[in-house]
Amino acid sequence: MTEMFCTDCKADTMFVTPECLDGHTLGDCPDLMCERCGLAVTRLALLITEEVVLVEAA
Ligand SMILES: [Zn+2]
Ligand SMILES: [Zn+2]
Repeated sequence: MTEMFCTDCKADTMFVTPECLDGHTLGDCPDLMCERCGLAVTRLALLITEEVVLVEAA
C-alpha cells in the first residue's frame, strides 16, 4: 500500500496492488490501483516519465 497523488481524485490517496494477472510475483508487480476511484497506474512508467500513465481500470 502506497500513498500517491491520484490524477482522478486530484488528491493524495492510497494505492494498492491490484490482483495481478500478468504472473508477477508478489511485491514484484509494478501495477498500482487507486483505492478510492480504481485508477490503475504502473510504477515503471512513473519512474520513467513521472507522469501517471492511464490504464483502463478493470
Ligand atoms: Zn503484475
Ligand atoms: Zn483516485
